[in-house]
Amino acid sequence: MKTHELMEKIISLSKRRGFIYPGSEIYGGLAGSYDFGPLGSMLKKNIKDSWWRFFVENRTDMYGLDSAIILSPSVWQASGHAAGFVDPLVEDLKTNKRYRADHILEDLNFDIKGKTVEEMSQIIKDHGVKSPEGNPLGEVRTFNMMLETQLGAVQDAKSKTFLRPETAQGIFVNFKNIVDTFSPKVPFGVGQIGKAFRNEIAPKDFIFRGREFEQMEIEYFIREEDWEKEFMYWKDEMLEWMGTIGLDMNHVHELEVSAEDRAHYSKRTIDFEFDYPFGRKELYGLAYRGSYDLSKHMEGSGEKLQILDQEKNEWFTPHVIEPSFGVERTLLALLVSAYREEEIDGEVRTYLALHPNIAPIKIAVSPLLRNKPELVEKAKEVFGVLKREFGNVSWDDNGNIGKRYRRQDEIGTPFCLVIDFDSLEKGDVTVRDRNTTHQERVSIDSLIPYFKEKFSL
Ligand code: ATP
Repeated sequence: MKTHELMEKIISLSKRRGFIYPGSEIYGGLAGSYDFGPLGSMLKKNIKDSWWRFFVENRTDMYGLDSAIILSPSVWQASGHAAGFVDPLVEDLKTNKRYRADHILEDLNFDIKGKTVEEMSQIIKDHGVKSPEGNPLGEVRTFNMMLETQLGAVQDAKSKTFLRPETAQGIFVNFKNIVDTFSPKVPFGVGQIGKAFRNEIAPKDFIFRGREFEQMEIEYFIREEDWEKEFMYWKDEMLEWMGTIGLDMNHVHELEVSAEDRAHYSKRTIDFEFDYPFGRKELYGLAYRGSYDLSKHMEGSGEKLQILDQEKNEWFTPHVIEPSFGVERTLLALLVSAYREEEIDGEVRTYLALHPNIAPIKIAVSPLLRNKPELVEKAKEVFGVLKREFGNVSWDDNGNIGKRYRRQDEIGTPFCLVIDFDSLEKGDVTVRDRNTTHQERVSIDSLIPYFKEKFSL
């Protein structure tokens, strides 16, 4: 399948089946904005729950946090975002459309590693680079991506603040609170999931680059001398989690970010890239940030953001390893990993081979015929038991069995369960496996252990 075709199919399935809708659609939409429908929101929640369990709940060295989206503007001054959270912007001189200059130049295979906006302007002039619409381009300038907002009734410079462009700073500004309350020993980490906002110059590629998205971030506080060991450890943890949610690991690649492209305080950064249909692009980041953030916030706030080394009786500023994940990029990579088409008896069967722990619906329960009360009653009984046990179980009696299977395949439901006349006599049901379409009879009494094993809960 051609790659743009795959993307179109995923976008169309997402809309048709209630995963992802264009934002504000009845008013003509809003660029780069999407709403997650009933199934999309379940899929998103499963991703976040899995992340939280793996990286926070199941560990003894992690604390969870849910900090504010709107922080004091001083936070962004100290962190460097007010001055430096910028992207290079260039304008089409004819249409006034704005583009990312780095993206235009990269697409033309120019090496722009570490290049300033002046140097990018020069490349555009020297090579007569045009906009994607074939028009001349203006000078490249920097554009701060933080989304401004005003707090309160008076709209002046004092009331101006920003929606957070990353969740990470909320962790740093709570470092002292967590240390004071819990007295953790280094190494320890803080994890947070939440919305982030960036005024992207050109939101594009479906939900890949939005202006509003969710991040799952960890700041892991360590001793400086341990940074290489901890960096490798977190790289492995990230890879392991990616495997557990069912990402196609053949499409995940590690990119060692070069010194020119790294933040000046970072000694090492790896981007995990994924082969999306529109190209190999950043999925997640892993950065060693030194003691930059805590030091900057100490300077900015005047507070001591340090830990006491009990043995040496010395205060020290921990260093930080930051694994950073985007929820929407995960969701899109999962859809790309899971999308399948196969031909059966001349008909195309489309299904999403989502991992059972991540699929929005785990089991669909159906009576063979919906106008036979005895079947419906038995099916409702089984449905109730499974729903109590597994949560995301759906009732489906719409259309004939073939149609139900098609619909459940398309939304990635791993198992369909049908109650028929034999079920009433023998106490067993048909369970159909989404990937193989293989069907087997399973006794009603053993359904819970049967599915528990399948879901490895
Ligand atoms: P890019 O280079 O693609 O703009 P970035 O390097 O700016 O990404 P980070 O600042 O490292 O991204 O953000 C951490 C993670 O947040 C990314 O790895 C990605 O998963 C997610 N993310 C960043 N920007 C967006 C966005 N505009 N839309 C959706 N997810 C995003």
